[in-house]
Amino acid sequence: MSFLNENENWRGLTKKTELIQSNVQGRPKKRGKYLTPCPDIQIIRQRPKFSLNLPLLVNGNSLGPAKIGKQFIAVRNTCAFDSIVQSMLTAYHDFATYYQHITESKNAIHDFVEALSKSGVSSKLYNERCVILKHTSEIKNGVLDCEINVATLIELHILPNTPSLEIKINCNDCQYEKISIIPVLELNPDPIFKEAMRGLQEAVCKSVEHYVSKTRNECCFCKGTNITKTFAGGSHIFLNLEAAEIGLLAARRGLANCRKQFTLSEIPGNLNYCDRQYKMVSAIIFVAGHYYACIKRATGRWEEHNDLCSSQKVMTITKRDVLKQRRTPLLFYVRI
Ligand SMILES: [Zn+2]
Ligand SMILES: [Zn+2]
Repeated sequence: MSFLNENENWRGLTKKTELIQSNVQGRPKKRGKYLTPCPDIQIIRQRPKFSLNLPLLVNGNSLGPAKIGKQFIAVRNTCAFDSIVQSMLTAYHDFATYYQHITESKNAIHDFVEALSKSGVSSKLYNERCVILKHTSEIKNGVLDCEINVATLIELHILPNTPSLEIKINCNDCQYEKISIIPVLELNPDPIFKEAMRGLQEAVCKSVEHYVSKTRNECCFCKGTNITKTFAGGSHIFLNLEAAEIGLLAARRGLANCRKQFTLSEIPGNLNYCDRQYKMVSAIIFVAGHYYACIKRATGRWEEHNDLCSSQKVMTITKRDVLKQRRTPLLFYVRI
């Protein structure tokens, strides 16, 4: 993968390097007569399998038991998992680079997203969901309760080897190479206490800086200090904003009354991360113990992907609701 070979100066967080040309073979570009090329139009044209109506996973609470072998299992509280899958499914449909990422690197979640895209929801797919989630919790009396913190689910269970940030230490003496994978980036909350979502870009830079600097400055094999440290962003980034909700932390900074909830409209659509451009796809919302995803399509339309929605469909979010404040513990961006 090309991004691993990027030789970035780990101190130079703001230093621009040339963008590496993506080698995605999108559909040939048709240039409309009256359109001037703008980045967003390029993205929309390159969407690999754009479809306006995406399927929606239904929460296990509203379904009959899943069947694995001869065992029937009632799968409960699947909203953390469903919110992540819906977010990845959208990126898979809307962004050529992410489509390529999902199809090229194989794991259970990528297979699941592809199956959901190809065939929609089915009892077979819900059984598959149960197989994946079986490892996250214990089955008690035929019930698998999947209630879990969404960041923990990603880090420990469903995407432990997919980096939001990857830090590499190469020893110049013994050639030993160590790669650290950070599946979810914990955000430094200070810029968000100060400036709400306007501080997001700064919070992201500070967090990367923190992760990179706390990685040891010696070879873990020969203990020599003649090392080269590099870092790169992943195909996607999960940003954990939970620290920005902690009133006690804000109070310690003298900002006890700062806002802890945000509107969808104020979430930055673009982020500069590890010298690459990322686009916002999804905000995972938490309300009354339940997660759902507010997703921004490549067309700019906002959609609510809520597995407890009574019509069991993706819903459009109205302009007014885009301005509603929500608890937003996790953001999902993809590299373009
Ligand atoms: Zn060494
Ligand atoms: Zn829920």
